[in-house]
Amino acid sequence: MKTINKPDVITYLIGNLNDNIVQTKKDPDLMLTYRDGTGAKDNSLLKLNPNAFLIQLYSDGIGIISPIGPKKDEHKLTLYYFVLQDLPDVVRSMLQSIGLVGICCTKYLSLETNRIKYFEPIINDLNHLQTTGLSVQSFNGQLHFVLSLLAGDNLAAHEIGGFQRNFNSGQFCRLCHISYEFRLTPLTDISFLPRRVTTHNMYVQQAVKPFNTKPVAGVVGESPLSHLIGFHPIKSLPNDLMHDFAEGVCPLIILAMLKEASAKRLMTYDQIEQKMNTFNYGMNDHSNKPPKIRAKHLTNNRIIGSASQKLCLFKLIPIIFDDVIDQLTNTLDIYTCLREIISYTYSTKFRKSWLPYLDSLTTRFQSLMVHHLSQVVISKVHFVTEYSRLIGANEPATHFWCMRFEGKYLYFKQLAIRSLNFKNPAFTLIKRHQL
Ligand SMILES: [Zn+2]
Repeated sequence: MKTINKPDVITYLIGNLNDNIVQTKKDPDLMLTYRDGTGAKDNSLLKLNPNAFLIQLYSDGIGIISPIGPKKDEHKLTLYYFVLQDLPDVVRSMLQSIGLVGICCTKYLSLETNRIKYFEPIINDLNHLQTTGLSVQSFNGQLHFVLSLLAGDNLAAHEIGGFQRNFNSGQFCRLCHISYEFRLTPLTDISFLPRRVTTHNMYVQQAVKPFNTKPVAGVVGESPLSHLIGFHPIKSLPNDLMHDFAEGVCPLIILAMLKEASAKRLMTYDQIEQKMNTFNYGMNDHSNKPPKIRAKHLTNNRIIGSASQKLCLFKLIPIIFDDVIDQLTNTLDIYTCLREIISYTYSTKFRKSWLPYLDSLTTRFQSLMVHHLSQVVISKVHFVTEYSRLIGANEPATHFWCMRFEGKYLYFKQLAIRSLNFKNPAFTLIKRHQL
């Protein structure tokens, strides 16, 4: 309400929404917003009010004390945010445009009864907003709203969707029926059934039966948001670029390339460190300059740095190590394939005609990984292959990534540390946020 009543917000929203609709009408191949994906066609409220504003939710957890301290679990909070997706990109990326839906202690949400209690008012408010709309002083007429997606990392998405919480066994994907044992089968030979609404609802019924302790096809129970209009666990919880790419497969490939260079005696670990040290980052990359890769990072299979720094390093690898890159016969193909995938998935506007090519690229990437680097094929390698389907069903993946929301995370984390009040941190943060 506070956001909507700010001067010019409604003008921005309506202007941008109309601009997008006009552009996609002129060029139906273009994908700009959630309205252009196939998922929007099943959204009955959006069909009823095609000009309704889109609300996106985001969930994240923050630890507000030292992660190695004895009370780390006690002071872990789960936060829910919302953003109006129809704001122009420049306005939407501002932290003030991200509103807070609620904060709760994470340990409190582990009990089902507590989850129901916590989500009930949120669901009621959102359902009321979606069905009756909103009247505000700055606009004569009723404003309509529709829920689009709930963004979050994989663990948060599985918790809120009622899926199993580990990615190293069973059916670990919330979009299809892949089993962990089949992750090493090239997708050129096999394809996995996508999850369907009717079968998913059936699995939920089986999973919640008394005395059942095992996940049923990766489903462990009903989603606490199952009564939220427009929400379904298999449709509303997309994967996130930042976690799957920048913090997932990109560091894997960087490590594999550097290790291949060392194994082939093209460079020692010390020379790798030296090259990183002496490299001059350009003006645009300087703010994302990655920390040095030391020998111990390579032996521990760990690349340090933020998501942006890891992505920057991934993109610059052929330039930093230009003298050896052509000799990395095992990993160079995988690198170029992933680099091409990234150029598609990180685009802010997408074309429907690109989807089949993106699909073939991700299948090739998975097959190359299985063939050359099978020992590091983790669940995120499979998630990469879901992106053509995800984008086709929703919108360009940069519209539901976590990157911008992480800025808000930093704001709350700093606020909690500065306030030094741990009696009821959720209350303190909400109060300070509303000031
Ligand atoms: Zn899948």
